[in-house]
Amino acid sequence: LNAYVGFDTITQQIEKKSIKRGFQFNVMVVGQTGLGKSTLVNTLFASHLIESKGRHNVDELDRQTTRIEAVSHVIEENGVRLRLNIVDTPGYGDQVNNEDCWESIIKYIKDQHSAYLRKELTAQRERLIQDNRVHCCLYFITPSGHSLKPIDIIVLKKLVQVVNVVPVIAKADSLTIEERAAFKKRINAELAFHNIDLYPYDNTEDYDDEERMLNSSIRELLPFAVVGSEKQVVVNGKAVIGRKTRWGAVVVEDENHCEFIHLRNFLTRTHLQDLVETTSMVHYETFRSNQLLALKG
Ligand code: GDP
Ligand code: MG
Repeated sequence: LNAYVGFDTITQQIEKKSIKRGFQFNVMVVGQTGLGKSTLVNTLFASHLIESKGRHNVDELDRQTTRIEAVSHVIEENGVRLRLNIVDTPGYGDQVNNEDCWESIIKYIKDQHSAYLRKELTAQRERLIQDNRVHCCLYFITPSGHSLKPIDIIVLKKLVQVVNVVPVIAKADSLTIEERAAFKKRINAELAFHNIDLYPYDNTEDYDDEERMLNSSIRELLPFAVVGSEKQVVVNGKAVIGRKTRWGAVVVEDENHCEFIHLRNFLTRTHLQDLVETTSMVHYETFRSNQLLALKG
């Protein structure tokens, strides 16, 4: 008697379907103007882009982001397609009315939840709902070396209620290694003091031991101290992405120079799927139940 029924092929079946369908990942960048948000996004994904819709190839001079704009890209690696939405936001803190600026960011995130909910509730709903919900918000911190700004606390408190927030120290090449370490400590103490709960969360029971270990090692590293660049520099005869300074080159992908590689691995190799799931199960669920309650009320 052959007891094998074959449901262990379910993993391959799922894999085949998902690969055919492709994957969707939506990242938003938030922070003050000039912190290198647009540059970092280009550093992260530019080399893999095979198709982009929206604004690109803009002049360095007039590329300042003045409104929230989503650019969609398709990137492909070994036959796996990733549809990537990058939501670039105007920096706040430089506007006459600061409040308006982060409110429009929160509104954008909620609008995507709302659009998804509307599609979910329609009778002849599409088999596959286009997912524009923001899965990850990279929050850029000014490399002051001192502490967070009051506006950071205000904005972060709002953001963590609606989206997975991952903090980065922008332009980390302007801090020494010691300054970076001390700055991180200070930031983490402030976040804890203000009860600002960033991704990855440790309060869910879904994670196994391995994931818990990985998450706590990520938490120890946060905020990622990053450097971005859209230019190549030549180091030891090799062209690499980096920034040339009067003292030498900062190599973006060199772990001794900054934590860009850690951020990229985190976003693409280890946490992409969990960021998507957490958005759906935590942030979207919260939004959805609030909306449905309001309808009933
Ligand atoms: P955004 O306003 O946050 O989108 O900032 P941009 O990406 O437009 O960058 C503003 C300026 O900072 C540009 O001149 C960039 O070349 C520069 N920049 C971007 N990333 C870095 C970085 O990691 N280190 C340094 N030193 N400069 C950077
Ligand atoms: Mg920009």
